[in-house]
Amino acid sequence: MFQLTGKIALVTGGNGGIGFAMARGLAAAGANVIIAGRDAAKSAAAVQALTADGWKADAVEADVTDEAAVKRLFDTVSQRHGPLRILVNNAGTSIRKAPQDLSLEEWHTVMDTNLTSAFLCSRAAHGPMREAGGGKVINIGSMLSIFGAPYASAYGASKGGVVQFTRSLATAWAQDNIQVNAVLPGWIDTQLTRKAREQVAGLNERVLARTPAGRWGLPADLSGIAVFLAGSASDFVTGTAIPVDGGYSIA
Ligand code: NDP
Repeated sequence: MFQLTGKIALVTGGNGGIGFAMARGLAAAGANVIIAGRDAAKSAAAVQALTADGWKADAVEADVTDEAAVKRLFDTVSQRHGPLRILVNNAGTSIRKAPQDLSLEEWHTVMDTNLTSAFLCSRAAHGPMREAGGGKVINIGSMLSIFGAPYASAYGASKGGVVQFTRSLATAWAQDNIQVNAVLPGWIDTQLTRKAREQVAGLNERVLARTPAGRWGLPADLSGIAVFLAGSASDFVTGTAIPVDGGYSIA
């Protein structure tokens, strides 16, 4: 049920943080993992780390907000590796400002990186997955898919959108045996949140006080859910948004 041997898996933003931890989980379960990111050196280092452990991995440089680049990415994956079976839409960014101070360009940057990229990649994945007899799409939401924050209007809108987008895809593609789910990470210690801790006063204390598990999550806390949602164990699970948050969302 958790065996992914030989399955081709693409992880956007898989060169660091949560994406890399998910890539590790998938690779350890036997998948051939392709990492897509803009920073070629970081992606090469991630591939090196995975292959050093004896797992299969490759990297393709791509800006997933760019329609033409996404097409090139999927063409390259298909030519080098064959039909894609698992897609993790993980690439994301945040610009922390009060809504009234956010420029239209900043709004678009966040929406394009977090939401439009998931549309572009999922659309490109649909044909190959359907032809292969099925597939798995895993979208990365956030606690801000559920809650509001004064500094996160664009981020929250994009991550709320990820959940609704997930539900739409799940209903559209169930007939093609493609399951589509979202993961909502709690507060995880990555580059993204290290910056947030510097920029948002009191954030660290609030997260620790509110999280029943009493700690920040580690990227590795997200590896298991990726394997579950990518494997046959989750074949009757679709359209959900699963928090992986140490209890943050229920406290
Ligand atoms: P990181 O900043 O460590 O990782 C973000 C990744 O996204 C990088 O690998 C980056 O690679 C990639 N990326 C960003 N923009 C693009 C782009 N235009 N094209 C391709 N890749 C891109 O952050 P996290 O690991 O924390 O975040 C991963 C996901 O998890 C995001 O969607 C984030 O919103 C979400 N999340 C994180 C939480 C946390 O607490 N950390 C909580 C909830 C959700 P490169 O620079 O090479 O392009």
